[in-house]
Amino acid sequence: DQVAARMLRLILDIAEPRRPVLQALPTTHYDYLVVGAGFAGAVMAERLAAGSGKRVLVIDKRPHVAGNAYDHHDAAGMMIHQYGPHIFHTNSAEIVEYLSRFTEWRPYEHRVLAQVGDKQVPIPINRTTLNSLYGLSLKDDADTAAFLAARAEPVAMVRSSEDVVVSAVGRELYETFFRGYTRKQWGIDPSELDKSVTARVPTRTSTDDRYFTDTHQVMPRDGYTAMFEKMLDHPNIDLALGVDFAEAKARFVYDRIVYTGPIDEYFGFRFGKLPYRSLEFRHVIEEREWAQSVAVVNYPDEAVPHTRITEYKHLTGQTAPHTSLTYEYPSDEGDPYYPIPRAENQALYKRYEALAAVTPEVLFVGRLATYRYYNMDQVVGQALATYRRHVAEQAIGEAT
Ligand code: FAD
Ligand code: UDP
Repeated sequence: DQVAARMLRLILDIAEPRRPVLQALPTTHYDYLVVGAGFAGAVMAERLAAGSGKRVLVIDKRPHVAGNAYDHHDAAGMMIHQYGPHIFHTNSAEIVEYLSRFTEWRPYEHRVLAQVGDKQVPIPINRTTLNSLYGLSLKDDADTAAFLAARAEPVAMVRSSEDVVVSAVGRELYETFFRGYTRKQWGIDPSELDKSVTARVPTRTSTDDRYFTDTHQVMPRDGYTAMFEKMLDHPNIDLALGVDFAEAKARFVYDRIVYTGPIDEYFGFRFGKLPYRSLEFRHVIEEREWAQSVAVVNYPDEAVPHTRITEYKHLTGQTAPHTSLTYEYPSDEGDPYYPIPRAENQALYKRYEALAAVTPEVLFVGRLATYRYYNMDQVVGQALATYRRHVAEQAIGEAT
């Protein structure tokens, strides 16, 4: 049987040489077809296979696993993130414990500077930011809070991404750090964007210059891709890369679907397109040891086309006489990376969500399928919760 399976794989590979990996057999009956090998798809596949003994086929239209968290070594041997910097942070011990089955960790606390004129100052705005920007000598939290309170503009009802910032730090700091960056990143003014977007970035009266304050701040020691490979390395899981759902539908035999692509696409855009924001990434290698003092430098100036530059050595701990960087250029065209949080988009998503609710043979999981601006840990949490709910509904076994 094994020889026959290997032969069939070989034939498929010869027939379609463009496919980097094709381990799935068209004749196998699968309990689940998982569309997408990112966090949502990989966690669901791992749980269904290892937790419930189900036969699972994972497909992805890209030639690799890990979704947007995909990392690999570039031409200079540096580990880079193909789709922009992915920093793992969470307050959930359960999520860290779960992922620890598939990776060791490297401690890493993320720090970001914003380029303002010829200065680089900490973002989130903290006491150091204000002292450095304005030549002040604010000494403690109370000093700094008073400085900000004198500039903050009261907003009766905080609704938009502009309101959040202006009500906390005033218009000048808003314009310096948030307006230009947000207009570039989202293609709309912060006044048109839900408050949840800029609320991701706090304001601090302390000198804490970490981007995140979560209890767990670690990076997978050997990278995200290696972690995903372990997650998907299970006898009940087959993997077919470079395969789109449209093609897989007719090609494979399965009972249920876990769908982690864009939800509007699943339903043939029948209510119209859900807006997603895209990015272009420019990856460069420079012949110097370091380019930046921190992993990420943000460019809030609207006249600068990129939003941020990432230097990976800070994240990975790799040493080399050269360094690898990624520039991010926001765009409407290209892969869907960000759902755009605003009321009208949420209303459209709700119509698709109502369709999903009456499509019980499909589980919709992840950032694109549930149209939520989720971080990686939130997607893992959502997938684990979806799996548990599904187990309870189906009364399928849970082994681990
Ligand atoms: P994805 O990773 O997008 O995976 C979905 C997969 O489905 C994709 O691989 C896609 O190719 C595949 N797919 C879609 N449609 C089809 C189809 N029709 N057929 C076959 N396959 C299909 N989170 C953090 O926690 N920290 C960070 O620092 C961070 N930085 C980020 C930076 C950027 C630039 C971006 C874009 C995101 C960042 N995130 C970060 C968020 C993180 O990427 C997501 O939370 C996470 O990757 C979402 O996982 P997912 O499985 O839902 O989606
Ligand atoms: N933001 C900003 N200036 C900054 C950093 C963030 O205006 O220097 C705003 C911007 O709208 C951005 C949002 O805050 O999209 C969330 O920032 P985050 O760093 O969380 O974005 P992500 O890493 O998800 O792209």
